[in-house]
Amino acid sequence: MKKLFLITALAGIMASCNQPAKQQTAVVITDSTKTEINVVDKGNVAFGQYFIDKTMRLDFNHSGTSREEHFAIDRIVSDGAWPGSKFVLIDKLELGPYFFKVIDNATKTVLFSRGFASIFGEWQSIPEADKTWGSFNESIRFPWPLKPVTVILGKRDPQTNKFKTIWTADVDPASREVNPADLPHANVVDVIQENGPASEKVDIVILGDGYTKAEMGKFRNDAKKLSAFMMDQEPYISRKKDINIRAVETPSEVSGVCKPHPGVFKRSALGVQYGAFDSERYALTFDNKTVRNVASQVPYDFMIILVNERTYGGGGIYNLYTTVSVDNKYAEYIMVHEFGHHMGGLADEYYTSSVSYEAQDIKLEPWEPNVTALLDKNNFKWKDLVTPGAPLPTPWNKEPFDKFGYEVQKQRDSLRHAKVPEEVMEALFMRQYRQEDEYFSKEKYKEAVGAFEGADYTQKGLFRSQLDCIMFTRHIHFCKVCQRSLINVMEQYTAKGPGK
Ligand SMILES: [Zn+2]
Repeated sequence: MKKLFLITALAGIMASCNQPAKQQTAVVITDSTKTEINVVDKGNVAFGQYFIDKTMRLDFNHSGTSREEHFAIDRIVSDGAWPGSKFVLIDKLELGPYFFKVIDNATKTVLFSRGFASIFGEWQSIPEADKTWGSFNESIRFPWPLKPVTVILGKRDPQTNKFKTIWTADVDPASREVNPADLPHANVVDVIQENGPASEKVDIVILGDGYTKAEMGKFRNDAKKLSAFMMDQEPYISRKKDINIRAVETPSEVSGVCKPHPGVFKRSALGVQYGAFDSERYALTFDNKTVRNVASQVPYDFMIILVNERTYGGGGIYNLYTTVSVDNKYAEYIMVHEFGHHMGGLADEYYTSSVSYEAQDIKLEPWEPNVTALLDKNNFKWKDLVTPGAPLPTPWNKEPFDKFGYEVQKQRDSLRHAKVPEEVMEALFMRQYRQEDEYFSKEKYKEAVGAFEGADYTQKGLFRSQLDCIMFTRHIHFCKVCQRSLINVMEQYTAKGPGK
């Protein structure tokens, strides 16, 4: 989809505290102006020279249509101690549709960068965005700067897939608009596993939505059970000691969350609701500030929101959060799969489901680490992992598999339409699971790493690395490429020294 960024004037709120009046910083970046700041990239800088051990959270409103995109600062607050690495500050992975850099105002040196995906960006790709405006509150978080900085926000240009600046904002930490006070917290914290200082570990916070006060025991058990299951899968099992997990109790006044499709309306503590972007099983919360405020009680790099529901559902957005319906038979699968999107920026490898995205037009290599357009067989992202002797593309019996997949999808849609009990749907998924096992067992290249056609909602022209993966089916194991991608992310958060 061609994106056009129209000119808009957005107000910044930055000014030095020496100045009595606030300056309004106009931030206008468009396709036509091609305004780029020439930054100086020195690699990872010395943390203590530019930052204090504290997280700055910049909340902004992200609005527009499918054709235009606008930003305005909402507020800048403290989000607690800095949970990320103090050595790896530059995000070399460059995953996600958006990417921000924090640069030193005086020298234009890049101090920090991170890729992310946004709810606005997802919303923008659905048909509704052609007709109406949408507005979402979002946040970026970075170490608290000692001196004035500029935040540069880039988005992938649909023509090249390279990041292009679409917004800049000046941030003066001394401005009276910047609030350095930590939020007082009163929620109960349950430490599930703690293996060392936050800045040397991957820190996961687990929140719960749709749990009443009386159900806090259930929340604690769900958090323990699901996180233990995830930690027992590769690549997490080998990295268990690199991961801290803490749960923050967030009781709701009601049990369960909002499910608009079947007409169940509720107001839960974190505002999670099914039916996001009119996809019945997509559970998200748009209440960004509430969620962020609660989460900031503990240091966190990644966030999981347990949804106290049996109805199949969840979601995972790169560098935002994961949601999972805890009482569904497939909760463990949903948790591991969605967390793969959230932490690793992994693409869905499946393509037979009808999801709330429009089909892609493939002319470029996708940015996600686990799918390729295979534009160059001799040089693509997991070429080094390809099993010797595996042809590229790698042959597999796609036709019967696809036919079966579409049949299941049709049955699934009609069952959902008929509002059958959840166990009927779960039984269909189990039949699908067994049949897929049967198909895979006959494949010649069932263990090989190659390039198997069909991935990322695209039947032809996009490839996944192995026949099976949790990003493809509900079989719970990551393919080798997904495992490596997740490890790459974990290394960015656990680096204990320069050069690591
Ligand atoms: Zn995979």
